[in-house]
Amino acid sequence: MAGDLQNSAANPLLAGAGERDLPTVSLSALQHYAFCPRQCALIHNEQAWVENYLTAQGRSLHELVDSGEPETRKGVRFERSVHVSAQRLGISGIVDMVEHDLVSGSLKPVEYKRGKPKPEPFDEIQLCAQALCLEEMTGQTIAEGALWYMQTRHRVLVVFSDGLRAQTLAVIAQVRELLASGQTPPPVYGKRCKACSLVEICQPKLLEKDRSARYVEGLFGE
Ligand code: SF4
Repeated sequence: MAGDLQNSAANPLLAGAGERDLPTVSLSALQHYAFCPRQCALIHNEQAWVENYLTAQGRSLHELVDSGEPETRKGVRFERSVHVSAQRLGISGIVDMVEHDLVSGSLKPVEYKRGKPKPEPFDEIQLCAQALCLEEMTGQTIAEGALWYMQTRHRVLVVFSDGLRAQTLAVIAQVRELLASGQTPPPVYGKRCKACSLVEICQPKLLEKDRSARYVEGLFGE
């Protein structure tokens, strides 16, 4: 079933992307897009970045994870900062850790996150994209992965269901289209803006008000 979803003949999202030479996008762009398409375009098309205490915390967590040596414990090999890509899907990036079960041969991507589990599947989509990369690179089906959250110090198992795979493929196609367009979508102010490191650059309330004013002017102006 996983193979069907990634087959361009069976999946129109992939067929379109493959034919039109869209750019390869980073795995982090998928998570940014799932959070907010404007944030994704600001970061990946306009190279906007603002470090705040949340992004700094996330960076140090990844530095800590990445600095560890590979090791083997109880029949499992732990490889850190593994570079992965899926050329056919147009994605590439780094997996924080890949757990390789030396008995069964199975691989499991693990992503470390600063916060806690979220109601929306942003982190799951990024993790699933990592699994799709590992699948293309190794030819084996990756059944599950895990997210580890610093705030709750808890590990969450993620099963790569057909639904999550389809959602991930859709986001990959949308991100590639967005970044190829060079366009930055207008802001849509919402609850997520409070947690967004780019809120000062984005100015969502101001720009949204400006757009509404122009809309009304267009309706009633000369
Ligand atoms: S401030 Fe809000 S609209 Fe602007 S990029 Fe961040 S989440 Fe998106």
